[in-house]
Amino acid sequence: MTRWGLIGASTIAHEWVIDAIRAVGGEIVSVMSTSAERGASYARDHDIPKSVTTLVDLVGDPDVDAVYVSTTNELHRDQVIAAAQAGKHILCEKPLSTSLGDAHAMVDAARAAGVVMAANHHLRGAATHQAMRDAIAAGQIGKPLAARVCHAGLLPAHLQGWRLDRPEAGGGVILDITVHDTDTLRFVLGDDPVEAIAFGQHGGLAQSGLEDAVMGAMRFKSGLIAQFHDSFTTKYAVTSFEVHGSAGSLFGRNCMIQKPGGTVTLRNVEGEQELPIDHGNLYENTLIAFDAAIAGRGKPLCSGEDGIWSLAAGLAVTKAAASGASVKIESGL
Ligand code: NDP
Repeated sequence: MTRWGLIGASTIAHEWVIDAIRAVGGEIVSVMSTSAERGASYARDHDIPKSVTTLVDLVGDPDVDAVYVSTTNELHRDQVIAAAQAGKHILCEKPLSTSLGDAHAMVDAARAAGVVMAANHHLRGAATHQAMRDAIAAGQIGKPLAARVCHAGLLPAHLQGWRLDRPEAGGGVILDITVHDTDTLRFVLGDDPVEAIAFGQHGGLAQSGLEDAVMGAMRFKSGLIAQFHDSFTTKYAVTSFEVHGSAGSLFGRNCMIQKPGGTVTLRNVEGEQELPIDHGNLYENTLIAFDAAIAGRGKPLCSGEDGIWSLAAGLAVTKAAASGASVKIESGL
């Protein structure tokens, strides 16, 4: 059983990760919040025995085996490095940080300490994406040539804080959502992006100069081209993830979401069929793989290096949207 310390009294831990940790048999022993009062109330509400206000107290706790870092993005770097140096395994939220140099420093620290580090790109835990990955690997669509991702929705009111008004915290739709698209594309396709173009949009939600929607495209090493539409502003859009190959197409519908769900349709010479999907909780699947990695059985679903890749793409898309030019995606790995 993994004993967890939460770094950050966050919404994502409250809505998904605390339940998922407990569902897979983990225990949450401590939470760190910068506010003693909020931390104590969060601990009480979630039945967590200890709340602390300093990183030293959290990572120095001998009862903690692993930390879940879900503070705002500019804080991840120092928290992950401190946890690694204290010998704790790390599940860090995406984007890993706000700069590539920071993300490398985090992954290097975990590697030097010999601890497991994972990024929480939960969409790898979706049975829909796993089915698409398997279908492609089995040759059911031939050579993948193009992909289209629609990850557009409405950012709920309770999440409209730093994402809309704090560029320094890694706010904006690109570091929030486009990083997930990139990771899902890499996972499903088994390919890495090399170049991006993008147009950002200021659709009236974010007032700080941050994009609240973006459309763009990435070219992958294999030559595949992928289009993405990410937004905080489109209440009635339905998410989708499509891959089109030389011998067939895969249509994932309603699958770029947090809840288990969605469908995948395969169209090829044999006609059209819905793939059987055995839905499971995405966050639990991430934690099951993480626990196995701690026990020496395999790798996390999404490694720290994978987190570097998605951040590199997010930063390239940010630059492309700002400059209007195409930007190379270089992970430095
Ligand atoms: P929150 O805004 O809920 O939490 C971030 C920090 O804000 C917390 O650590 C907390 O600081 C502070 N905070 C939270 N609520 C309050 C409040 N009511 N009053 C004052 N301060 C508050 O962030 P999210 O949970 O939305 O996101 C956290 C991280 O998780 C980000 O990196 C984000 O990108 C990622 N994320 C990932 C998702 C996924 O599915 N993989 C989904 C959503 C987010 P303190 O700890 O000091 O109390």
